[in-house]
Amino acid sequence: MANIDLHFHSRTSDGALTPTEVIDRAAARAPSLLALTDHDCTGGLAEAAAAAARHGIPFLNGVEISATWGRHTVHIVGLGIDPDEPALAVGLKSIRDGRLERARLMGASLEAAGIAGCFEGAMRWCDNPEMISRTHFARHLVDSGAVKDMRTVFRKYLTPGKPGYVAHEWASLADAVGWIVGAGGMAAIAHPGRYDMGKTLIERLILDFQAAGGQGIEVACGSHSLDDMHKFALHADRHGLYASSGSDFHAPGEGGRDVGHTEDLPPICKPIWRELEARVLRPAG
Ligand code: AMP
Ligand code: MN
Ligand code: MN
Ligand code: MN
Repeated sequence: MANIDLHFHSRTSDGALTPTEVIDRAAARAPSLLALTDHDCTGGLAEAAAAAARHGIPFLNGVEISATWGRHTVHIVGLGIDPDEPALAVGLKSIRDGRLERARLMGASLEAAGIAGCFEGAMRWCDNPEMISRTHFARHLVDSGAVKDMRTVFRKYLTPGKPGYVAHEWASLADAVGWIVGAGGMAAIAHPGRYDMGKTLIERLILDFQAAGGQGIEVACGSHSLDDMHKFALHADRHGLYASSGSDFHAPGEGGRDVGHTEDLPPICKPIWRELEARVLRPAG
């Protein structure tokens, strides 16, 4: 196990723990580097960085940006960003601004399918209304007893063609990558194994991503099997991309990998964090 984790979430977006709690939990694995990557917002970074410093753990400011590429939603992780850089801050705000209206439409869609009160129910799980997400709806659907677990929620609801799914236009791929690079960070395609794309489409995504200035891809990742990891290590090698590693942890008990560690990258990989040394926030002393 590598003790590096460059992709996880706090309550600032759709995680269940505060930035301090998630760093405290990650610290139990004695990681050598962490990055918090909340969806479309950077509001948890200062608290997370302070918590990491208390544990003596090096930290990178991160974000996971929702992007639309063709008819696909893809997520782009940004590492080593300056969260105060204006174009990034304004861009992320523009994404957040679309979430509340989308959530109302999701609530209406679920109501039409016979499950009332989901918008209000989801909002009770969400600290920050502009960050309302499918995860908050899923937690409400499980907690209210309508669906037995998170996996089943996304299988039966909230995904294309199912009740509660509302198509949405996120940032363009070029904007998402441009904001990250403009804020001094490096961009990585998040969890490529989760996209419904064959080899040809993945290669086209990589080429468009690189044309926009993207240089990384997640190889070791909470939602990748070992086969996925080796497959994307080969994609990274073929295209000269740096490899990233992250758990994509959201909440205790919601499945997936726990926070603070990832699989070791296959030896052919070039780890992205070696390129980010200058962006690492190190504990004083
Ligand atoms: P949103 O940004 O509102 O579309 O919500 C996307 C979030 O839903 C992702 O970041 C995941 O946290 C969660 N999610 C999506 N698909 C699944 C799934 N199959 N199982 C569990 N969580 C999922
Ligand atoms: Mn999420
Ligand atoms: Mn994601
Ligand atoms: Mn994520």
